[in-house]
Amino acid sequence: MIEQRMLAHDRPFETLRPVRDASPQSIAKYWSRLMLPGLATEADRDVLADTATVATASGYSRNIENFIGTVKVPVGIVGPLRINGLNAVGDFHVPLATTEAALVASYARGAFVASKAGGIGTAVLYEGVMRTPAFRFDGLMKAGLFVEWVVANVDSLRIAAEATTRHGKLISVEPIIDNNVVFLICRFTTGDASGQNMVTIAANAICLAIEAACPVPIKRWYIEGNFSGDKKASFLGMVTGRGRKVSASVVLPAAMVQKYLGTTVADMLDYGQIANLGALLSGQMGAQAHYANGLAAFYIATGQDAACVAESAVGYTRMEAQGDGLFCSVTMPNILVGSVGGGTGLPSQSAGLNILGLRGEGHGAALAEVVAALCLCGEISIVAAMAAGHFTRAHQNLARSR
Ligand code: NAP
Repeated sequence: MIEQRMLAHDRPFETLRPVRDASPQSIAKYWSRLMLPGLATEADRDVLADTATVATASGYSRNIENFIGTVKVPVGIVGPLRINGLNAVGDFHVPLATTEAALVASYARGAFVASKAGGIGTAVLYEGVMRTPAFRFDGLMKAGLFVEWVVANVDSLRIAAEATTRHGKLISVEPIIDNNVVFLICRFTTGDASGQNMVTIAANAICLAIEAACPVPIKRWYIEGNFSGDKKASFLGMVTGRGRKVSASVVLPAAMVQKYLGTTVADMLDYGQIANLGALLSGQMGAQAHYANGLAAFYIATGQDAACVAESAVGYTRMEAQGDGLFCSVTMPNILVGSVGGGTGLPSQSAGLNILGLRGEGHGAALAEVVAALCLCGEISIVAAMAAGHFTRAHQNLARSR
C-alpha cells in the first residue's frame, strides 16, 4: 500500500493547461484528456459539450475558464404570478432551475393562491452594494487622522470612483475604526447590475486616490476587509441592506386558505408561531422558512451569482390575522440580482430573463421585487403544508413515487 502511494507521488504530473478564451478546439482538447479508461465517456462529452454549446463556445469566455460544456439543469415555470409592485407590475412567468422535486410545485401553489387573492404588493425600500476596503496603520492616532482626512475628502473620492463606471454612484463612505485598522464601508447604487464587480473596481479607485493624496502613512491596504457581507450572511447586511432591500405582502382570504391550501388561517398562524420560536431559539439570522430554495433556483435560471444565495437568504417572514384573512409578508434586505451583467447575457440565462420580460436595461429593481414575491409564495406554501400536515406526503409523492 505504502509502495503504491509512493508510486502515485512519483508519477509525472501533467496539468490541464488553463484556457480563458473558449473555442471548439479548446473544448475538444480538454475532452481528449478527460476521456480516460474508466472515467468520462464519449456520451458524457456529447451531453456536456453538445452541438449548440460548442457552436457558441466563445460566448462563454467572459463567464468561465477551462470551459468544457454546459450542465443542463431542469427548468420549471411558476405563474402567472400577479405582482402589483412599485417596479414590477403585471403577471409574471417565473423560471426556476432546480433538480429538487416538489420545489416548483410548492412555489407554484403559493403563486396561484397569492394571485387569486389579488396579487402581491412589492416595493424596493433601499439599494446599495458595499465594498469595504481595510487599511492598517502604525497605531490608533494615525488611524484617527486617516478617518478625519477621508471624511473631509469624500467629494474627490466620489469623482475617482465614478470615473470607473457609467452606472455606479457612490452613496457614502462610512469609516469603522478598530484601533490601528480602519474599514471603509463604501456603498454604491449599481443601476440594473447586481454590481459586485462594479463596486470592486470603483472602491479600488477610491483606495488608489487615497494612497496618492492622503498625508497619513498607510502601512497596507486591502480591497476587501471581509466586512461587506459579500457571499455570507452578516448582521451588517441584515440591518443596513446589501443589494436591494425588498418587502412583499399579500392578504389571503380565509376561504382561499381553506380551498387552495387545505388548511386554516388559525393553523397557519399556530405553525408560524412555532417556526418563529424555532428560529429564535436556534439563533437564525432573521426568521424565514426556505428563501434559499426559490433564490437558488431563480438565480441559476436567470444568470445571477448563485453563491449570493448565502447572503440573500436572510430576512423576516411575518404572518398575522387580518380581518378573517391572513396577512403574509417577507422583507429581504440582501437581494443581489441584475438584469444586466454577470451571467445574464448567456444563452439559457437570457432566455430565462426573456420569459420574465425583464432582460436588459431598466429592469433591475423589478427583478428584485419578483424575487421577493417569489419567496413570499414559497413561505405561504410551506407554512400551509406544515400546518395541514401535508409536508411529508407532498415530498413522498413528488420526490419518491414518480
Ligand atoms: P459586470 O458584468 O461585471 O458589469 C456590469 C456591466 O454592465 C458594466 O460594464 C456596466 O457598465 C454595464 N451596464 C450596462 N448597462 C447597465 C445598467 N443599466 N446598469 C448597470 N450596469 C450597466 O457585472 P457586475 O454586476 O458589476 O458584477 C456582477 C458579477 O460580479 C457577478 O457575476 C458576480 O458573480 C461577480 N462578483 C464579483 C466579485 C468581485 O469582487 N469581483 C465578487 C462577487 C461577485 P458601467 O460599469 O460603465 O456602468
